[in-house]
Amino acid sequence: MSPGARLGAVRDRVARACEAAGRDPEEVKLLAVSKTVETSGVRPIYEAGQRAFGESRQQEAEEKIRALPDDIEWHFIGTLQRNKVRKVLEAGFAVIHSIDSLKLARHVDRIAGELGIRPMVFLEVNIADEDSKGGFSPDALRSGRSEILALENLQVAGLMAIPPEEELPERARAWFRRVRELRDELAGDSGSGWSELSMGMSGDFEMAILEGSTLIRVGTAIFGARSDPT
Ligand SMILES: *Cc1c(COP(=O)(O)O)cnc(C)c1O
Repeated sequence: MSPGARLGAVRDRVARACEAAGRDPEEVKLLAVSKTVETSGVRPIYEAGQRAFGESRQQEAEEKIRALPDDIEWHFIGTLQRNKVRKVLEAGFAVIHSIDSLKLARHVDRIAGELGIRPMVFLEVNIADEDSKGGFSPDALRSGRSEILALENLQVAGLMAIPPEEELPERARAWFRRVRELRDELAGDSGSGWSELSMGMSGDFEMAILEGSTLIRVGTAIFGARSDPT
């Protein structure tokens, strides 16, 4: 299948999942995860109409950002090291999905202030408390909420999660449900925002859509299998 055809197949899956969930497909943004894909491989997906791309390494992304048209919205989805924050913000990423601690949130806020920008960010939650993954624990988000709300240079879109891979779709769905319930609890009725949910990847995005995902991050199903693990 050509990349364009794979993109079309993903859009069809999104449409079917939205129908099953009784949701408007316009509510679910598709992020094409182009990490490890060469610029020449990203271009056909751009030409097929895709405008939001996700990258996980700053250096690799910068080359693509320079080479590709500037109406692309770039999302940073990888682990963000403190010493890369300024470079990531300067590279022109519109959204950062991987704010995984209060310390990092404060740091990004400070650098954004120095640059005079207010980036859109997601707070990454380690919903299954996995040692292999970063992210806030649900309790750390509860206790850090008011401090994060006070960080003036961050626009917090909502929560991001990479739940454990599960064989059974129902088990995957249960993790997404827990992320949604945490979002509901944290967003409350304060009008603070925090309403978005960045969750769902190639293998499980239908379940994420059923549980309210507003942004799915899809790599393999669009670009094919990656050779190097990331
Ligand atoms: C690589 C990656 C994805 C895409 O995963 P696929 O299974 O290839 O769709 C999504 N989110 C994050 C954070 C990633 O690192």
